[in-house]
Amino acid sequence: MAKKASTSAAGQGTYLAEAARAQRRVCTVTYPKGYMQAAPAGDERARLLRETKYKWLNGSQLRFWFYDKPKKWAGTEGDRQVVRQAFKMWKALGIGLEFAEVANAKDADIRIAFLDGDGSWSYIGTDVLTKREDPRTMNFGWSLTEDPAEGLDTALHEIGHTLGFPHEHQNPFAGIVWNEAAVYKSLAAPPNNWSKATTRHNIIDKLQADKVQGSSWDPNSVMHYPFDPGLIVQPKKYAKGLFPKGGLSARDRKWAKTFYPELKPAAVKALQPFKANSLYLGSGQQADFTFKPIETRDYEFRTFGDADALMALFRQAQPRGKPLALEDDGGTNDNAHLKVHLDAGKEYLLRLRLRYAKKPGQAAVMVW
Ligand SMILES: [Zn+2]
Repeated sequence: MAKKASTSAAGQGTYLAEAARAQRRVCTVTYPKGYMQAAPAGDERARLLRETKYKWLNGSQLRFWFYDKPKKWAGTEGDRQVVRQAFKMWKALGIGLEFAEVANAKDADIRIAFLDGDGSWSYIGTDVLTKREDPRTMNFGWSLTEDPAEGLDTALHEIGHTLGFPHEHQNPFAGIVWNEAAVYKSLAAPPNNWSKATTRHNIIDKLQADKVQGSSWDPNSVMHYPFDPGLIVQPKKYAKGLFPKGGLSARDRKWAKTFYPELKPAAVKALQPFKANSLYLGSGQQADFTFKPIETRDYEFRTFGDADALMALFRQAQPRGKPLALEDDGGTNDNAHLKVHLDAGKEYLLRLRLRYAKKPGQAAVMVW
């Protein structure tokens, strides 16, 4: 995320003055492998599977942790407070995900460093779980407290990537035509010092339509960079620069609640052995079920029908820890299947995100 120029009453030419400072620092996201490739034309199943590929199961608790050493990776307490506040702001939208700060790296899904000069970045959604040589999943490359509004937007933006949201200025529906030479030149200059490849990856390359929600573009998204005058050729009104309002936009809120709606305990049905439960879900939607075995033995959970699902079983007492078992059959010819040893009298929770169904109501889940 970057420094925003004010377009408010502060005055005509404010953004020009900002531009002249050339101090914009913007995020360097790392998209997962194959993320920018298109689904095969006309393949509705592939398209829908790509929409949910890096989204978390709703109800997941994402545990975050701040490095305290090496020293150069540790931020100030002020920096950490800004990140905590940004997590709270995403949660305050009423989403089904939970965030919790943990005391150990080994308990964390999101490992946050503040290595100055390394740029601000995060991986996309569940791609943070991919093991890499560099154990960080998020970095802030500049102070988040020096300019509080910029700092908070930077934290909201990086967390947005961790929730699975890409750059909004790469939305193919934006119809942005760049002055490419000017864009490369602008980002190659300090403080970003980007290579052409980095600029292409983060700005010029357009996302596939299956990576963005709906078919509109949101220039006020917290996932959108500001752009100085002279970088955008079309739409013409942004030739003098484009500066998002700051904070989470109306559409950011809608996106977050579409993939991670508030959990409704009343909607959770109980599974009975050998009884199929029809899944009246749209692609991408999730249903949760409880199950209380009356005997201790191995149980199998399986989906039926022309469908792809991400399915995970938890102990009800710890619905937000690591699942006992998890399977994603997306893109395979099989159905999702779990085989787990369960204890009589204990209660379990099955979360199932239907990633693709040929028709509503033509998929089901059963335990036996
Ligand atoms: Zn970014």
